[in-house]
Amino acid sequence: MNLILMGLPGAGKGTQAEKIVEKYDIPHISTGDMFRLAIKEGTELGQKAKGFMDEGALVPDEVTIGIVEERLNKDDCKKGFLLDGFPRTLAQAEALDALLSGMNRSLDYVIHVEVEKDQLVERLTGRRICPKCGTAYHVLFNPPKVEGICDKDGGEALIQREDDHPSTVENRLEVNIEQTQPMLDFYTDKGELVTIDGSQGINEVFNDIDEKLKTIS
Ligand SMILES: [Zn+2]
Repeated sequence: MNLILMGLPGAGKGTQAEKIVEKYDIPHISTGDMFRLAIKEGTELGQKAKGFMDEGALVPDEVTIGIVEERLNKDDCKKGFLLDGFPRTLAQAEALDALLSGMNRSLDYVIHVEVEKDQLVERLTGRRICPKCGTAYHVLFNPPKVEGICDKDGGEALIQREDDHPSTVENRLEVNIEQTQPMLDFYTDKGELVTIDGSQGINEVFNDIDEKLKTIS
């Protein structure tokens, strides 16, 4: 079972990733974890990646792809994998394709958890933080007992982080959408894309994904 999970920020990708790897017992491979592992193991590519990250620079694709290759060659990936956060661009998607061909493997599905932008904005701008204790709330999904007030410190007014302001969130989503669309087209052309309605509840979304995964033999 060789899978990629895609979705914009706020689409609930992380939650679905957890449910997929738990049910199907395949490794969840996120970009961050992959880099951390390569750096920890001190591989040549890991050291290269660390050099770029220490400078605050983007890790070049050839280094990233090499790290993906090292990760996919590990024993736990023999039965499959769930890639999350990679590929991020069309160039990376094409490089991954070449890499998998070289390994005599191919993707089963690219699962796209789709949620409309307006709904994502609503989800992503609802976060409120207590400036005193750091507790996070959400106005819709995890509201405090008294609106705008921290449950723990009583009286402490919750704030909205700059990152969660509507204009910031919309910009972030726009950039993501622009970067993602060519990849969606690429995987659609290859017949690997599965679009899941991410506006539903967590369990409904997972059931839809699961229906698709059950067809992989
Ligand atoms: Zn608090």
